[in-house]
Amino acid sequence: MSTKGSCMCGDIKYEYTGEPAVTALCHCTDCQKWTGAAYTSNAVVPRENFKVTSGSPKTWDVKGASGKSNKHFFCGQCGSSLYTELEAMPDVTCVKAGGLDGGAASLGGKIGVEFYTKDRVGYLQGVEGAKQEPQFG
Ligand SMILES: [Zn+2]
Ligand SMILES: [Zn+2]
Repeated sequence: MSTKGSCMCGDIKYEYTGEPAVTALCHCTDCQKWTGAAYTSNAVVPRENFKVTSGSPKTWDVKGASGKSNKHFFCGQCGSSLYTELEAMPDVTCVKAGGLDGGAASLGGKIGVEFYTKDRVGYLQGVEGAKQEPQFG
């Protein structure tokens, strides 16, 4: 089973096989800046299960709170935020779920954990049943 995603212009396509290791919302200010949204929704998948199948994303490196590099992959043509790979989590790719096709953006309605709840905007509540982490892990 593979789950497919793409950017807004369709230049970049990617997919992962199997189920995400975890589904996560991230409310950190880097995620807010990068997407223009209040938070990111993420399918955190084993990196070996993830691949870009069309196009070449551009990247932007940001140093996270850990001091390690957070590599952001995006479409250089339409600007869509696609996925991140964190030096602190070398085995996984954090696919931004909004780019997933065919209804997969909903992550099956299940969120395992929310990160950086300290930065969560005041009009949102925690997702019921999701582990709440004030920062990262
Ligand atoms: Zn694009
Ligand atoms: Zn974040």
